[in-house]
Amino acid sequence: EAKRNGRNGYRLYTSAMTEEISERFALTEELREAISREELELYFQPQVDIRTGSILGAEALLRWNHPQRGMIPPDRFIPIAESSGQMIKIGAWVLEQVCAKVAGWKERGIVAPKIAVNISNQQMNRELVEQITELLASSKCDPACLELEITESCLMENPEQMAHELSSLKALGVGIAIDDFGTGYSSLSYLKQLPINKLKVDRSFVSDLQDDENDLAITRAIVAMGQSMNLNVIAEGIETQEQIDLLLKLECFEGQGYFYSKPLPEEQFLAYLDQ
Ligand code: C2E
Ligand code: MG
Ligand code: MG
Ligand code: MG
Repeated sequence: EAKRNGRNGYRLYTSAMTEEISERFALTEELREAISREELELYFQPQVDIRTGSILGAEALLRWNHPQRGMIPPDRFIPIAESSGQMIKIGAWVLEQVCAKVAGWKERGIVAPKIAVNISNQQMNRELVEQITELLASSKCDPACLELEITESCLMENPEQMAHELSSLKALGVGIAIDDFGTGYSSLSYLKQLPINKLKVDRSFVSDLQDDENDLAITRAIVAMGQSMNLNVIAEGIETQEQIDLLLKLECFEGQGYFYSKPLPEEQFLAYLDQ
């Protein structure tokens, strides 16, 4: 390939690489100022009972409104935050914001649903438990309104420590969901011992449900597992009525996806709650 393209092919390749490296460097530095410049914002994506369409909660999803580059998606900047030591600070900001918003909604007379917050692997430690303990005490946010989404890979990296931190979190009254479930390598025997409330079936299985026998079988297995272990199961990335019909057949009753709503800015989300 490089030979066929000759010198030009090689030059193109290196300039793309150089561009990526310098953009990454710029983003790393700009991200350090993003909180103080109020460029970060939380969007909320409704989670619904797919039997009735009624709203059960929402997932908080981070957005970076960059003044020059426009909206930068989390899949772009979260890895940068993680590799440059900024994720703890950003993650703490997200938790603070969610607790403050839930408490604020309550004051406006809005019945706050459960809000799920994504937790980076780097945040899952003793300090997180301490931070959440303090936040719940100082913010008047009801612990039952908070759910933490932890990835399967995080749980399996260090199951013993996770068991410890998760029991402390559960004792505070917050919910625990496993995100992107089915894409990692959970040991079922560990899973059984962890104080978890919910499994989130990864979008990759949901998106091909109607065409892919394997995805259907995997989703069926996750739902059965949830039932036998007394866990809620939610399907993410629902885009079609066909997917809903299949999920209902599998007895998966909770869902989230563009079919219901894209992630919404706060005020639009509150309007969605209202109708
Ligand atoms: P996730 O936690 O698995 O979040 C679900 C992602 O799927 C979101 O992407 C959401 O917008 C998208 N999505 C939801 N429904 C649909 C659908 O029907 N179709 C399609 N195509 N996509 C759908 P988003 O907001 O870009 O976030 C991507 C990832 O970034 C999240 O995946 C999560 O891992 C991470 N992330 C977002 N916010 C935070 C945060 O505050 N903290 C941490 N640590 N990670 C975050
Ligand atoms: Mg999530
Ligand atoms: Mg997910
Ligand atoms: Mg994901």
